[in-house]
Amino acid sequence: MSYEIPETQWAQVIERAGEQNTYKQIPVQKPGPDEVLINVKYSGVCHTDLHALNGDWPLERKLPLIGGHEGAGVVVAKGDLVTEIQIGDHAGIKWLNGSCLNCSYCEQADESLCAKAALSGYTVDGSFQQYAIAKAAHVARLAKDIPLDGVTPILCAGITVYKGLKESGARPGQTVAIVGAGGGLGSVAQQYAKAMGLRTIAIDGGAEKGKICLEELGSYAYIDFTTSKDVVADVRAATEDGLGPHAVLLLAVSEKPFEQAAAYVRPRGTVVCIGMPAGAFLRAPVFETVVRMINIKGSYVGGRKDTSEAVDFYRRGLIHVPFKTVGLSELQSVYDLMAANKIIGRYVVDTSR
Ligand code: NAD
Ligand code: ZN
Repeated sequence: MSYEIPETQWAQVIERAGEQNTYKQIPVQKPGPDEVLINVKYSGVCHTDLHALNGDWPLERKLPLIGGHEGAGVVVAKGDLVTEIQIGDHAGIKWLNGSCLNCSYCEQADESLCAKAALSGYTVDGSFQQYAIAKAAHVARLAKDIPLDGVTPILCAGITVYKGLKESGARPGQTVAIVGAGGGLGSVAQQYAKAMGLRTIAIDGGAEKGKICLEELGSYAYIDFTTSKDVVADVRAATEDGLGPHAVLLLAVSEKPFEQAAAYVRPRGTVVCIGMPAGAFLRAPVFETVVRMINIKGSYVGGRKDTSEAVDFYRRGLIHVPFKTVGLSELQSVYDLMAANKIIGRYVVDTSR
């Protein structure tokens, strides 16, 4: 099988720091020996892409840069060393574009901690273009019965929250608070939690997000941080014994909830930090953290094993991500909604328009 690969393609390019994306035609690159070229059909828009655009993290990005790290499409070319993937296969571009596969972290399937990891849409060009390159060893393998638009949020949001739930140590029947529940990661997190036998308390702002969390995403309680007079008391009260949830997944792009979580998680509970508000710090009272034996930790995307497991949950029909589709040319309108916390679920861009 072979595909006709054009010389040029449409892409959203961040040319210089402080500028918005420019939608323009650029050359199609050729894959290196251990890489594949993917004709990206759809790409989810993660809040990380907005951090990359704003340049607000203490991590240097490539410039000019093509963002995007939830891209799904068809493999149209591959390097000579790629034997396990065939032209025509479906594959996904994720945040970890590649890693050294040789360090002690890579050896233990902890590739997100590899010091040489290449990051799609950040240190290497990502999926907001029609043809994107990734290391063959790291692409998500997608069976052909998986819809290429619906799977995109799994490629970052899904992998990340699935990994975060595993890191939380919460066991079936236990309760997890999902902070930022109406957003991209949060809406997916409730679904994975449910599939893993966990109960969830959703925390976000606004009645519309609450309705979806309760009626469609599987949470049994919703706390609106914009109207609650005491979020800590309300979260604790939402658990049957009033002791608070067994774990908390912090997915919001705001510092405040990172200060509240240690106060409402139950004794011996685990707070998992995943959202990365710019310039934010964690603050928890030492005395209560010690005597309540609270565990506070970070969780960063997931490796190849987490990826195949997260995709498998989706393939089996266990994860229903609410998403809306717009053209790649309309990417900026998605960022505007995202910055105003107005997105429920995910926006997915269609690279054909
Ligand atoms: P999003 O914008 O879709 O969702 C964020 C949600 O948080 C929104 O629904 C917003 O209303 C809600 N929110 C804001 N303030 C809140 C508060 N005080 N309490 C409760 N909810 C609040 O963003 P997203 O795409 O889900 O990404 C979330 C964050 O996770 C970003 O910082 C992103 O960079 C980060 N992220 C981290 C990893 C990782 O590996 N650790 C992976 C992907 C994304
Ligand atoms: Zn992401």
